Amino acid sequence: MRLDRFLSEATGLTRSMAKKALHRGDVTVDGEVIKKSDQQIHGQAVRLEGRLLNEPQPRYVLLHKPAGYISATQDEVHPCVFALLPPELCRGMQCAGRLDVDTTGLLLLTDDGQWSHRLRSPKHQCQKVYQVDLAEPLAPGVAQLFSEGIMLHGEDSPTLGAQLDVLSETRVLLTIQEGKYHQVKRMFAAVGNFVVALHRLKVGEIVLEDSLAEGQWRFLTPEEVASI
Ligand code: URA
Repeated sequence: MRLDRFLSEATGLTRSMAKKALHRGDVTVDGEVIKKSDQQIHGQAVRLEGRLLNEPQPRYVLLHKPAGYISATQDEVHPCVFALLPPELCRGMQCAGRLDVDTTGLLLLTDDGQWSHRLRSPKHQCQKVYQVDLAEPLAPGVAQLFSEGIMLHGEDSPTLGAQLDVLSETRVLLTIQEGKYHQVKRMFAAVGNFVVALHRLKVGEIVLEDSLAEGQWRFLTPEEVASI
């Protein structure tokens, strides 16, 4: 919602009185003086002359991550995924689970630390579905190996059982229940193959819809938030 509308709904001021208060510098959003009437409000703390007008709400965003962006708040080499969100949405937000710089697809961002922790916790075993393009045709027996769990280089316990669904000789869907570092790439490396493209389609019940183009984002629905 626009800030001028938010102010008039929260205080009973007319739109033009709300605009005047903004021009005077009487309004802060997350502690910063904002004078723009069309600034979007998505649960940030809004204050008029220091008085809090709302209960700030946690924010949950689904981003269709393009390749070339890094899942971090800052980086010296690559642009960060937060550059794809409006600036007013970035304050306090973190990636809830990361994707490699060359991985595309569903990335979740939030300022709710507990929710993010639940999502990433191995105890929670939240399933993630990836579409994987491989350099070599899938060898026989790999689906069985993955379902039993395999030992990755440098780890002291095997992966949890993962499900492999074959789409073509070199394209598969892989469903995993954990998020070890570079897990999908390392699983295929462990069976002598190589991932040439990786795209995340689903996290728990949250699905990346076809209509959301690369670089676009949307808020999660309350049902999606509650599903984690
Ligand atoms: N596994 C990987 O290897 N990379 C990702 O980005 C996500 C899962």
